[in-house]
Amino acid sequence: MNTVKVLAPAKLNLALDVVGLLPNGYHDLDMIMQTVDLYETIILRKSQELTLTLPGSRVPAGENNTATKAALAFFHYTGLLAGVNMEIRKTVPVRAGMAGGSADAAGVLVGLNALYDARLSMSELCALGAGIGADVPFALMGGTCRVRGVGDLIKALPPMPDCWLVVVMPSFGISTPEAFARYDQLGSTIHPDCEAQERAIRAGDLGGICAAFGNALEECSGAVETPHIRQLLDEAGALASSMTGSGAAVFGIFDQEEKAASARAALKLEYRQVYLVRPCKGGARVLPPLYRGKGKR
Ligand code: ATP
Repeated sequence: MNTVKVLAPAKLNLALDVVGLLPNGYHDLDMIMQTVDLYETIILRKSQELTLTLPGSRVPAGENNTATKAALAFFHYTGLLAGVNMEIRKTVPVRAGMAGGSADAAGVLVGLNALYDARLSMSELCALGAGIGADVPFALMGGTCRVRGVGDLIKALPPMPDCWLVVVMPSFGISTPEAFARYDQLGSTIHPDCEAQERAIRAGDLGGICAAFGNALEECSGAVETPHIRQLLDEAGALASSMTGSGAAVFGIFDQEEKAASARAALKLEYRQVYLVRPCKGGARVLPPLYRGKGKR
């Protein structure tokens, strides 16, 4: 096998709370995260060199790219004297709070594991991923999870009930470190009840999940369009709406496909990047050989 193709899903935060500061200065978080069917496509080819291309994307392909970091961490850990040509077709908006960079790192790790038959366990991959970015372990696990600490304490939950999610990415992205710096200055009046949301997920209660929606970074993110986007989503019939991660993407949750489709159409009148997605199970995954040659998803 000389080539593998990986699909790596984006995530949304159904809830994000900042519950304190850790001794190392990082924020102690309590979150409910959900992967959705908006995917990065990652193609890896065996090579003696290490190269990365991101066709059509402005994200730099240098040594700070999470995909390059993941490949270097993999080869360092396994001791393999090999390389890889990586091609990433980015679909997930950048600086959105949807963990596109983390999805890329997770995709490279699972892809290299398969390409070189390295047989690293999920916990080894998660340990490598945690060294690259806080959201990478979740990007490997995927599905519906309660995530705490700095993203390192992950508890898998049952899949959330079926629903439709309309995600709107405004024209300006948000820098995660800057959002946390502003949180330290301003604090938040929003503190979602993650415990209640976990109970609602376990009970399959979509209304209860929505009642516990919220993001402690929303007020301080600096994403000026959030209230307006939320208003449009709410007017279009969203059961709840919120910013995801440290922003800037905002999403609404719908219990009917038709309502979600008309919300997407309404938001499209004002915003270029609008996505209608659904929750998905699992994290970054290698496609079986049968599908590798087939077209885009
Ligand atoms: P998170 O929810 O994990 O904070 P995000 O959506 O806010 O994710 P990303 O889009 O994943 O943020 O990454 C933001 C920054 O990281 C960008 O400024 C970009 O230059 C840098 N970066 C490095 N590697 C990547 C990558 N593979 N894809 C996207 N951004 C990357």
